[in-house]
Amino acid sequence: MPLTNVRPTAELQALDAAHHMHPFTDQSSLAKKGARIIVRGEGSWLTDSEGERILDGMSGLWCVNVGYGRERLVQAADRQMRELPYYNTFFQTTHIPAIDLAAKLAEICPGDLNHVFFAGSGSEANDTNLRMVRHYWALKGKPSKSWIISRKNGYHGSSVGSGSMGGMAGIHAQGGLPIPGIRHIDQPYWYLEGGDASPEDFGRARARQLETAIDEIGEDNVAAFIAEPIQGAGGVIIPPENYWPEIQRICDEREILLICDEVITGFGRTGHWFGHQAIGARPDIITIAKGLSSGYLPIGGSVVSDEVAEVIGSDEFNHGYTYSGHPVAAAVALENLAIIEEEKLVQRVHDDVGPYIREKWLSLVDHPLVGEATIVGLMGSIALTPHKPSRARFASEAGTVGYICREFSFGNNLIMRHVYDRMIIAPPLVITREEIDILIERVWKTLDQTH
Ligand code: PLP
Repeated sequence: MPLTNVRPTAELQALDAAHHMHPFTDQSSLAKKGARIIVRGEGSWLTDSEGERILDGMSGLWCVNVGYGRERLVQAADRQMRELPYYNTFFQTTHIPAIDLAAKLAEICPGDLNHVFFAGSGSEANDTNLRMVRHYWALKGKPSKSWIISRKNGYHGSSVGSGSMGGMAGIHAQGGLPIPGIRHIDQPYWYLEGGDASPEDFGRARARQLETAIDEIGEDNVAAFIAEPIQGAGGVIIPPENYWPEIQRICDEREILLICDEVITGFGRTGHWFGHQAIGARPDIITIAKGLSSGYLPIGGSVVSDEVAEVIGSDEFNHGYTYSGHPVAAAVALENLAIIEEEKLVQRVHDDVGPYIREKWLSLVDHPLVGEATIVGLMGSIALTPHKPSRARFASEAGTVGYICREFSFGNNLIMRHVYDRMIIAPPLVITREEIDILIERVWKTLDQTH
């Protein structure tokens, strides 16, 4: 297929650097080296404005679960745009895509997670959660239960509420975050922070920080604990096996709600429909976005338990977004879920491509630069280190080595992401075994160049 809308790359890059403010980007760097311009996607592959084909090891931003170029999603959007491009779900009106999508989510979400509050993104959905859990306790006659406990190096979005619940130092350093009423406990990052402790001891100790925080703040003042089942943007950090059962025990014993942020881990990424199924947690609320529509249109939401919905539903919740349950985004999300089901993509990750990539990915630890390789489903990372036995970081240059590694992977037409000195992959769920071989080969080449 011929490329569309391709003008000279340099001209586009100059316009981009002059007028387009990029998220999470040092804008001045774009004037020195223009951003790569992506013009097309097909399956697990992207094409840039120079005609280079790039293997997308990150599914865009962990979201294009069904891969690029899905005609069915185009048709779903086309049909819905013609029928009803927009209507809201405020003030006693609704529409069929929002009804059907909410019902479908109730069907695929486990347990009694049967009710959906739609948002336009993961950040918005987490802002909803922040307000909803506080309102929940207020309605139950316990308005003092307002504190949220979350984790350092967790990521829940970059709006004021979600960025405050997240524990990213870079976000907190700008714009007056975090807002009051949020306590961050340490993350369960055994490889880097475990020292001499066994994973079990470390996992237990880190989980018990939740208990300590509840004791310090007072159980009567804590509304909820929020965490990603597996930290994504923090570096794909897979907690020790006993961490989540201990967290669940504490949430069960204490009167606090558990929110699992499934924005990355939802919709098949871990080889389960949801990441909390992989780790055996029973949340009261889950946050969804990204893979819900495979990123084809922006949509997110909070899926809540019968109990939470009943309490919140007893009063008017003064909250909502113009695009809550947007009909076109909802229609596309429904079609996306149909594709995931029909093509058995969750099972595919669990039984086929997940185990296939796992073996190859874990063997990256044999590279001199790699201190740890870990993966769950199609969500993996490696830690780069100058000295394996001590797991040292590239101390004063933290971030730089990862950045260099990412540049080399770009050069090898593979998209990986870096978080300081961790390199990450999260390819589309449709990636084939042949493409996995290419991905792994390009990672080895990239590491050799970085070394
Ligand atoms: N929660 C998690 C776990 C995420 O990874 C992200 C985005 O990467 C978000 C929330 C925020 O979602 P959004 O960028 O759609 O606002």
